[in-house]
Amino acid sequence: MLDAVLLTHLHSDHICDLNDVITTHWVMTTRPTALAVYGPPGTRRVVDGALAMLEPDISYRLAHHADLEWEPSVDVREVEPGTVIDDGTLRVVAGATDHRPVQPSLAYRFELEGRAMVVAGDTVPCAGLDRLCSGADVYIQTVLREDLVRMVPMQRFVDTIDYHSTVVQAAQTAARAGVGTLVLTHQVPTPAPGSEQEWVDIARQHFDGVIVFGSDLDEISASPAGSWEAS
Ligand SMILES: [Zn+2]
Ligand SMILES: [Zn+2]
Repeated sequence: MLDAVLLTHLHSDHICDLNDVITTHWVMTTRPTALAVYGPPGTRRVVDGALAMLEPDISYRLAHHADLEWEPSVDVREVEPGTVIDDGTLRVVAGATDHRPVQPSLAYRFELEGRAMVVAGDTVPCAGLDRLCSGADVYIQTVLREDLVRMVPMQRFVDTIDYHSTVVQAAQTAARAGVGTLVLTHQVPTPAPGSEQEWVDIARQHFDGVIVFGSDLDEISASPAGSWEAS
């Protein structure tokens, strides 16, 4: 039932489930409906590759379902920083982030009914991210715990510190931008069960607002009182 998918960058851990979104969107709709996929330049090549990989699957489903008479359709929109969606109600603005050598990478600011939420992918703190987050109600950031990553005796894992926001840096960005709620997501390394509060406590040392340890499928919604809640 999705209208659109927005990609921050083309690292495998951020795109490899896209094929399932394409397939499910295709088989669960009752008429030909394109799925819009927004992303940085290079997104078209990724989507074309996913569709090529799906060719056998597509042929099986077309052969099996009498009422399925069309192939999946994806409307790819490669975007640059700036407004990428504006339908008069919802505005989505893309901002450049810094995840080098992954270039370009983007974060997205969603503005609706006077509220703003920023979804940032992997990035170190940077001016583009600060601008996008300024005054936002909610800022969702992929994070890494430098103290834990440095304990892993493998240089390639330690290398990941180079281009991610640590929990401390995410909290500092949140404080600088004056956001209301910080959501820590895509936690690296995978948190040990029961350690969630540790992550929040580290962020708390640098940020006074609401801090949420994000889990997959969490929904962040505005409560009538104007604050934001995770469920
Ligand atoms: Zn990632
Ligand atoms: Zn990445």
